[in-house]
Amino acid sequence: MMHSQPLDTPKANILVIDDTPENLYLLASMLTEQGYKVRSVTKGAAGLRGAQAAPPDLILLDINMPEMNGYEVCQCLKSSDRTCNIPVIFISAMDDVLDKVKAFTVGGVDYITKPFQVEEVLVRVENHLTIRHLQKQLQEQNTKLQQEIRERQQAEEKFAKAFRSSPSPIAITTFQEGRFIDVNSSFLRMSGYSLEEIIGFSSADLNLGITAAQNYSTWQKLLETESVQNHERDFRTQSGEIRIVLLSAELIDLDGTQCILNIINDITERKRLENEFISLVSHELRTPLTSLIGSLDLLGTGQLGTLTARGEQVLNIAITNIERLNRLVNDILDLEQMKSGKIAMQAVKCNISDLLIQAAEAMEAMAERSQINLIIQAATAKILADPDRMLQTLTNLIGNAIKFSEAGGTVWLRVKLQTDYVQIEVQDQGRGIPTNKLQTIFERFQQVDVSDSRKKGGTGLGLAICRNIIEQHHGKIWAESILGQGSTFYIILPLLNGAL
Ligand code: ADP
Repeated sequence: MMHSQPLDTPKANILVIDDTPENLYLLASMLTEQGYKVRSVTKGAAGLRGAQAAPPDLILLDINMPEMNGYEVCQCLKSSDRTCNIPVIFISAMDDVLDKVKAFTVGGVDYITKPFQVEEVLVRVENHLTIRHLQKQLQEQNTKLQQEIRERQQAEEKFAKAFRSSPSPIAITTFQEGRFIDVNSSFLRMSGYSLEEIIGFSSADLNLGITAAQNYSTWQKLLETESVQNHERDFRTQSGEIRIVLLSAELIDLDGTQCILNIINDITERKRLENEFISLVSHELRTPLTSLIGSLDLLGTGQLGTLTARGEQVLNIAITNIERLNRLVNDILDLEQMKSGKIAMQAVKCNISDLLIQAAEAMEAMAERSQINLIIQAATAKILADPDRMLQTLTNLIGNAIKFSEAGGTVWLRVKLQTDYVQIEVQDQGRGIPTNKLQTIFERFQQVDVSDSRKKGGTGLGLAICRNIIEQHHGKIWAESILGQGSTFYIILPLLNGAL
């Protein structure tokens, strides 16, 4: 942007070089009257020295002078870096033979003939000062722009270097369509693809294992906050291997196109070690746990002597806790075996409503104890499922609904038939689940409140197991909730074709 300054502020410095004192006086007083700062000298050499010592903004230069004429003075001015950009206006008498061409070739910008017309001199001076002023501004802008370009290039270079040599896989995708624009070599190494196989395609095209729903949730979050951090995703490599990654993404602008910078952290190995450690510890805990339960039971029978009332109390606390620990260990091992595919589902034809009623009956005692009313709205729907696993899922959901409700509340159990799937709902009027926890509760050891497991006796593994079971049945499970008003857990399962 150019800002033109008002021309009367600040008034410029003008150097007048003329060997005729009357001319000098006339010019000087005329310009001074207009507010210019004027220096005047009668000799070319003195003018040159003055211009070198303190470069003026403009020079008025007489052509006809003894010793050194105006052309020579102008040439000298133009040959010095310090003075070459000062505009020079020549002054010549009417009867002088003015060589206009020469005046311009030695570097003059204009000429004025004597006798002067005050208005003309002032207009020409002003014009050339304006031009000079604009030139200076242009130069400054130019220097600034070049500096900006340099800085930009440096920043780009730094980014390019980080992008190329980062050990983390990085990919740039378009925001609208999610097509890959560029990926670094770490990304190629992890994914097993070549550059040509990736560029221009989307993760759906390549079947990278990231679901449309996951993509949409990242996309939504990016729209809201411009960046997301550590979203856990499955990533399918070219060879079909599933790797677990943490995805962090940021919105960036590339030549006017909105793009996503995706940075990936491959945690497959970390997860494997973590799982291995958990299952190792759990296995190791199993034997002493079984022995402990046996010993405590034996104490309870009184065969080793009668306990005092206080002793019985302590023993019961110990039994409650050991049972919880046992549940935890069993759940961990169960989940781990399910995940690794060691437990195969024994799928048979069954009616989901029968299973729901069975699950409700199993939970009836707990519901009564907690003064919760169970209401079943069933519909016949045949599915292919492992009945034990399905019961395990349903009782877990009903158990949670009871656990997190107040006495007097109602829990509704519904089976709804849709065209090609069946929907099961477990709805409660309990405390509800915060929106940001609706997804994480299905992960291992995730509880809304850290004290939930202690207070409610859970392990934080129930929903992770449920999800695993439902996914193995090619179904989906999710929760919706209004805090303080209640939660609804949904399951959808494919219907058995032609079995209705
Ligand atoms: P837990 O053994 O702790 O019940 P789950 O995996 O079954 O483990 O549940 C995880 C957490 O999800 C619970 O600890 C609780 O914080 C929350 N939750 C589950 N079901 C409900 C519900 N119906 N109402 C409120 N919170 C629930």
